[in-house]
Amino acid sequence: MTVQEALKQLTELEKTRHAYEHAIGLIYCDAVTAAPEDSGRGRGETLGTLSGLSYEVFANPQVGGLLAFLREHSGELTPLQNRQVEMLNREYERISKVPQAEYVQYAQLLNEADTVWHRAKRDNDFPSFAPCLKQIVETQRRFAGYFDPARDPYDVSLDEYERGLDQAQLDRFFSALREKLAPLVHRIQAEGAPVDDSFLHQEFPIAQQRALSDYLMELMTIDRSHCSIGETEHPFTTNFNKYDVRITTKYHLDDMTNSLFSVVHEGGHALYELHTGDELMNTCLAGGATMGIHESQSRLFENMIGRSEAFVERIFPKLLELFPEQLKGVTPRQFYRAINKCEPSLIRIEADELTYPLHIMVRYDIEKLLFAGEISIDELPRIWAEKMKEYLGVEVPDDRRGVLQDSHWSGGSLGYFPSYAIGSAYAAQIVDAMSRDLDVPALVREGNLAPIVEWLTQRIYQYGKAKDPDELLRIATGKSFDPTYYTDYLTRKYSAIYNLK
Ligand code: ZN
Repeated sequence: MTVQEALKQLTELEKTRHAYEHAIGLIYCDAVTAAPEDSGRGRGETLGTLSGLSYEVFANPQVGGLLAFLREHSGELTPLQNRQVEMLNREYERISKVPQAEYVQYAQLLNEADTVWHRAKRDNDFPSFAPCLKQIVETQRRFAGYFDPARDPYDVSLDEYERGLDQAQLDRFFSALREKLAPLVHRIQAEGAPVDDSFLHQEFPIAQQRALSDYLMELMTIDRSHCSIGETEHPFTTNFNKYDVRITTKYHLDDMTNSLFSVVHEGGHALYELHTGDELMNTCLAGGATMGIHESQSRLFENMIGRSEAFVERIFPKLLELFPEQLKGVTPRQFYRAINKCEPSLIRIEADELTYPLHIMVRYDIEKLLFAGEISIDELPRIWAEKMKEYLGVEVPDDRRGVLQDSHWSGGSLGYFPSYAIGSAYAAQIVDAMSRDLDVPALVREGNLAPIVEWLTQRIYQYGKAKDPDELLRIATGKSFDPTYYTDYLTRKYSAIYNLK
C-alpha cells in the first residue's frame, strides 16, 4: 500500500462514518422537533442498527492497520493529515480496548438508565435509580482501566471531555473560585443594593418572543440560510456540517428572558460551527475543539455579551417595541440589573452567572468521591444536600430538585460537568484578550458584532478540532489557562451591579 492509497482509504472511512452520523443526527433532531409523540419504538430500532453499522465501520482491525501504517509514514503527511490520524487513533484505541460484548451491554444499560431516571425524577424516587447509577459508575471505572490502567480513573473520564484536563488542575481552579466567589455571594446577600426583577414575571406573548429570536440571530450575524431555529423541551445546537446548523429554544409565556438567553447561548455555539474551516468538512476535525471550548463560545455570547449593559442598551428599543406594556417605565439599567440578579437556588440550569459555578462544584466533588470509591451510591441524596448547604446555603427539599435534577449521570456523562465551568472561565480570558484589540462594549452598543465574530474566527473557530484547548488559548490570549480572569470578571461585574464598596 502506498501513502496515497492509504490516504484515499482514510477519506473513504471518514466519509462513511460521517454519513452514518449525519443520518443518526437527523433522526434524533426530527425526533425532538417534528416527530409525533409516540413514535419512539421504530426509531429506536433504526438508531440501534445505524449505530451498530457505524461502530463496525470503525472498530475493526483493518482500520487499526490503516492508522498504524499512516502513523509510520507521518513524515509524508501534512500537519492536518497527521492531526486527523492522531485523533482517529485516539478514538480507535479507546473503542478497540473495550470488548465488544461489554460495549453493547453498556449501550443497553444507558438506554435503560434514561427511562429509569426520567421515571425516578418524576416520582421523586432516588432508590429506584440507584442500582442503574451504581452500574454506570462501575462500568466507567472499569473502562477507564482498559483505556489507561496507569491513570486515576476520574482523570481518564475528565480527559475524554476536555483533553488535557485533570483533577490537579480542577482542584486549583475550583478552590480559586470558591475562595473568591463564596464571600462575594455572601456580601451581596448581606449588603448588596436590592434588585427588582418583578417586571420580568409577566406574560410575554410567544409570537413576539419568536420575533425577538429572529432579531437576535440577525444581530449576531447568524446566516439563516445555513442555520435554522426550532423549538424543543431542552434547547440545544446540532450541526450536520458547517452549512447545516440547527439551534433550538423553548418559549415560556411567563419568562421572556429564558428564551432570549437560550437563543444567544445556542447562537454562540452555532457561530462556532458555521465558521470552522472548509478543509475540515467530513473529517473528524470538523466541529468544536472540546466541550469546554464549545461552552466558552456559547457562554461568551450569553454572559459576557448578552448579559452586558451594552447589549441591553442595544436591544432595549426592540424589546420596547415588542413588549410595550410589560416594559413600560422600565429603564435599560433596571433591565440589566434584573437579568443579572444573584440568587442562590436549587436548580443548576436556572442559576445566575455568579452562583452557577457553585452548582458545578457540588457535582465535581461528588464525582470525585464516587470514582475514588469513597462514598456509596445510596449516600448520594444526603451528600448532595450537605454540599448544597455548604456551597449555596440552600436546603434541598426533595431529590427531584436535588440529586435527580440533571440527565448527565444517567447518560453516562460523568466527568462532563466541569467543562461548563471551565468554558465560562476560558470565555473571560478570551474576552480580556479581545478587548486589547477591539472596543467590545462600543461595538455591541452599535450593533456591530461582525468584528467580534471575525476575531473569534481567526483565533478559534477556523481550527475546529485541529488544535487542543491549550493551543487555542495561547493563540487567542497569548497565555495558558488562568482562572483569575474569570474571578476578576465576576467580582468586577457583580460589585458594580450590587454597589458593593
Ligand atoms: Zn451550551
